[in-house]
Amino acid sequence: MAYINKNYQKLSAGYLFPEISRRVRDYLKENPGKIVHRLGIGNTTEPLTPTVVKALADGVYRLGKSETYTGYGDEQGEEALRASLVKYYSRRNVQIDKEEFFISDGAKPDSANIQSLFSLESSVAFQDPSYPVYIDSNVIAGRSGLLNADIGSYEGFNYMVCLKDNGFIPHLPVKSVDLIYLCSPNNPTGSVLTKGDLKDFVDYARSNRSIIIFDASYAAYISDSVLPRSIYEIDGADECAIEINSFSKFAGFTGVRLGWTIVPKNIRCKDTGPGELHQCWYRRQTTFFNGASNIAQQGGIAALTKQGLVELQSLVDFYMYNAKLIREALTSLGLVVYGGVSAPYVWVEAPNNLSSWAFFDKLLNEASVVGTPGIGFGPSGEGYLRLSAFGHRKSIEEAINSIRENLLI
Ligand SMILES: *Cc1c(COP(=O)(O)O)cnc(C)c1O
Repeated sequence: MAYINKNYQKLSAGYLFPEISRRVRDYLKENPGKIVHRLGIGNTTEPLTPTVVKALADGVYRLGKSETYTGYGDEQGEEALRASLVKYYSRRNVQIDKEEFFISDGAKPDSANIQSLFSLESSVAFQDPSYPVYIDSNVIAGRSGLLNADIGSYEGFNYMVCLKDNGFIPHLPVKSVDLIYLCSPNNPTGSVLTKGDLKDFVDYARSNRSIIIFDASYAAYISDSVLPRSIYEIDGADECAIEINSFSKFAGFTGVRLGWTIVPKNIRCKDTGPGELHQCWYRRQTTFFNGASNIAQQGGIAALTKQGLVELQSLVDFYMYNAKLIREALTSLGLVVYGGVSAPYVWVEAPNNLSSWAFFDKLLNEASVVGTPGIGFGPSGEGYLRLSAFGHRKSIEEAINSIRENLLI
């Protein structure tokens, strides 16, 4: 007889996006002909850049000829791509060995799978609010107690509250924890950890023999060159941190699928020496994963060339200009907004102490604009709404105009 993994039954309903769709459907039913402006979903909209397109097309043609056809590639990813990443990190004086990179099919799968390196007894801390995969993957693995449905948090997990009082920057965990998930620039709040903030976490992790799992998927959106784009800009991070990154938001690869994870050879936890965790991730990936698409990897190599990076910067600049438009429009209406400076998300405080869902309804009913209720990212997201700067310029402008003309503040 087979039995289900009961941890799946502990998961919260995950009703955020279905519930958004339901409310939008109801709104359109009551207001036929209205155009809805969608600023809810964190999905890229602009085409791939020319250098990448050419490399992807070449990659396809290479597979179509017997002289250039290749099957499975190098287990950790194409060596040329890892060499390009080494060079990319060295631009910020971060020295990482080629063998410390593991090319993946994206940051989300790696964020979900990385916890399998660690004991089920590990205590875990998360930023609250946060990207849901960190929490859900640990629930499914069995590290949580039950969901406390009234609050929206799981028994046994440590929530590092990120509110405006702390600038949405988490304080160090009060209790000693074994695994710490950090995402900077942050989805959904748009906050960015400074070198000082990260140093505090790295020092904490080294003295407690904890491990930091650092999601840097939005690093390319950092506008201030002083802010760290990699946790390895902090001394000692190679002993305690794993970094996960992606071409999704950096290069518009959301549908192409390509990412990377760095497991340093120096990293160690309480009961391993250096090298062992690196070796375990290698074992894990070669057992459960057969590598990212070789076509996508050709695209990644092209993205990291000099010309490729110039084009990617203009893609990032495009989205960040959208973010600026959203920020400025809302601020001029008297709304309080955070983020949107080094991240493509604007974190809007609901006016008049409205709840996330009440503000969502207000924006939809008055301005036909769809955001994402902050509560969907964790209990501390209550009272906020996330607006995404991913979108065609025209859609962003129409959404902003509709807010300006119709939102009753
Ligand atoms: C979009 C996003 C990712 C990217 O995931 P991929 O699987 O690489 O597309 C990772 N982390 C965060 C926080 C994100 O918002």
